[in-house]
Amino acid sequence: MYICHHMAQNGLDMDIQFLPGVGPKRSALLKKELAVGTIGELIRLYPFRYIDKSSYIRICDIRPDMAHVQIRARVTRVELFGNPASDADRNDTPLKFNTIKRMSVWISDGTGEMETVFFKGIKWMYEKLKPGLDFVFFGKPVSFNGRINIVHPDVDPAAEASVAGNTYGEMSSGTMTGVYPSTEKLKTGGVTGKVMNKLMEAALSKGLPSVEETMPEYLMKQCGLVPLHFALRNIHFPKDMASLEKAKYRLKFEELFYLQLSLLKQRYVRSRADNGIRMPRVGEAFNRCYDALPFPLTGAQKRVITEIRDDMKSGHQMNRLLQGDVGSGKTMVAVLTALIAIGNGYQACIMAPTEVLAQQHFKNIQKFLEPTGVRTALLTGSSKTSERREVHAGLEDGSIGIIVGTHALIEDNVVFRNLGLAIIDEQHRFGVEQRSKLWRKASCGAPPHVLVMTATPIPRTLAMTLYGDLDVSVIDELPPGRKPIQTIHATEGKRPALYRFMRDQIALGRQIFIVYPLINETEKLDYQSLEAGAEEIMNKFPFPEYKTAVVHGKQLNDVKKFNMDAFAAGRADILVATSVIEVGVDVPNASVMVIESAERFGLSQLHQLRGRVGRGSEKSFCVLMTGHKMSKESRRRIELMCATENGFELAEEDMKMRGPGDLEGTQQSGLPISLNIASLAKDGLILNAARDCADAVLREDPGLTSDRNQILRRELRKEKYQIKDYSKIS
Ligand code: ADP
Ligand code: MG
Repeated sequence: MYICHHMAQNGLDMDIQFLPGVGPKRSALLKKELAVGTIGELIRLYPFRYIDKSSYIRICDIRPDMAHVQIRARVTRVELFGNPASDADRNDTPLKFNTIKRMSVWISDGTGEMETVFFKGIKWMYEKLKPGLDFVFFGKPVSFNGRINIVHPDVDPAAEASVAGNTYGEMSSGTMTGVYPSTEKLKTGGVTGKVMNKLMEAALSKGLPSVEETMPEYLMKQCGLVPLHFALRNIHFPKDMASLEKAKYRLKFEELFYLQLSLLKQRYVRSRADNGIRMPRVGEAFNRCYDALPFPLTGAQKRVITEIRDDMKSGHQMNRLLQGDVGSGKTMVAVLTALIAIGNGYQACIMAPTEVLAQQHFKNIQKFLEPTGVRTALLTGSSKTSERREVHAGLEDGSIGIIVGTHALIEDNVVFRNLGLAIIDEQHRFGVEQRSKLWRKASCGAPPHVLVMTATPIPRTLAMTLYGDLDVSVIDELPPGRKPIQTIHATEGKRPALYRFMRDQIALGRQIFIVYPLINETEKLDYQSLEAGAEEIMNKFPFPEYKTAVVHGKQLNDVKKFNMDAFAAGRADILVATSVIEVGVDVPNASVMVIESAERFGLSQLHQLRGRVGRGSEKSFCVLMTGHKMSKESRRRIELMCATENGFELAEEDMKMRGPGDLEGTQQSGLPISLNIASLAKDGLILNAARDCADAVLREDPGLTSDRNQILRRELRKEKYQIKDYSKIS
């Protein structure tokens, strides 16, 4: 086993335990803590920041608005709070660290003194930060009670930090030393920052000769990339700032380039395959509907329909994501798209994630379809057996042209005569499994065209990555005449004022939504607060002067529908609901959206809810009720909501705040490839450049068969780029 590793041809596959100073124990630790086992993997573990000994700041110059600062200072005293013992009697009586809540470590660099504060890991830091010793502190200064301090700074021994210079031989001629991810276990196991630097130097001299260049010469020239060897050397041991920047750019570019190349390649393969249903006509039904529209389409709607038409007549299967903010008129686009399929002799289905939404779609669509005479039907879980039988027959013999429904549409006993188009609304609510079931409904030899609609605006950079193999259309324009929605933040004390405002609005003939969070369907407390809230509303807005409807997920479908209809038809003034109303319902007369415990909702959910109002011609309001205490993130979300109505802006901010992995609506798909150094939130520009480059390469050489693209072929064969084919599951 050992020997086998030793003799490995490629230095990169060598186990790190054979590096000087590692051994089996430390290598096991590195494997466990950082998932680094081979020299190749170690080389690809990049510093997350750098200590630059030329850039210490003086304590007297620190201001609270500064970003991260680096200070070289001596510990002067240590104070412990929550325990009677303090640094005055640092003796052998053992401290009870579990009773200590906070530790203040005062530091001085001769120009001033300041406090650093620790709430966690106190024992570890207490033993390290002895008065009289020098350290390098790194952190974000904040102002607390009029004094500047740093909470939980990173701490490196000053002796270690100051050797950043020439100690590491030829690798490090610069002044910057990489700081690597670490854990307490690694540090206590002797793998300190200094040891990591040493290891890295050894790893580079052993491994670098075996590292093959991953970008073709011509692309490096075209895109201004430094060679991989230069990049790897400088990411670990930067010669200077400029070299570090070049190294970072190269490594980020490479990562994003291959991600895009692998995604786009699938798309090129698909668009060359001649496997789509050709739908060359627009057809009579489309024209009749179009001519009877009560309003002109917006420019964005027209553009998107043209994009869709081009797909459908191309002979290739359409796989398109349609993004549009709430209220941007996606339903209209769906109807016209369905009618193109009809005009070419095919059936179309429109799938919605909830019963309520399917019903709403069905109702809305019917008024547009009236002039066309196309037979349309609704199929949901609560369709009666007799109806169901009739619908099944109509789908099988082709007499039903457009079917609207929920998951019931993809049950095995549903058979289409010739399904040519599937439209999926609010795509993220459908699981991958369900989508692929729909796919298998293909009954005419070729897969149906697929249009996925989402109102969760996905930031461009993320869409490009998640759906790199899909085509994306965006409706970036709202129908004219929409009044802006005024968003207000209020806390409990303002409730009487809120009720007065609600009464005024109701007196003007408007309707009001009140939404309670329902984070977890089984969450008892959530139902309790909804029920308590509904009761209070019915007290403050007594029947018969006011009428209140209540809707939540635990009601029977019939009850839910009855209450919902009452509100939609204007028979109720107030709708108290859980977030079931989040997707879809259209009540143009509703002008106020009150969101209770708004701090518990995510940004995009808040935005979706707000989109339920502002659909009519009246000025609308969204009131965000929160407690007084909020986390920093919650406060930021509320501020953003009050500041902008633009869903894409909010989505970008959301991504910055939470990181792309957490973005609502993307959990199921996730990132196809994990990124090591590039960030979708921060490296949008590099992503664009990498994408353009990948696109240009494939346009010229879709099969990557030319000599100069051999490197690209070789790289794409590597396991990390074997991502699943999204076109098959959407
Ligand atoms: P989305 O599904 O994108 O949230 P909808 O399709 O429900 O939006 O449209 C919202 C409202 O705008 C509907 O009442 C619809 O009839 C109306 N609408 C759609 N397109 C237009 C348009 N071009 N001009 C005016 N109103 C429109
Ligand atoms: Mg909609």
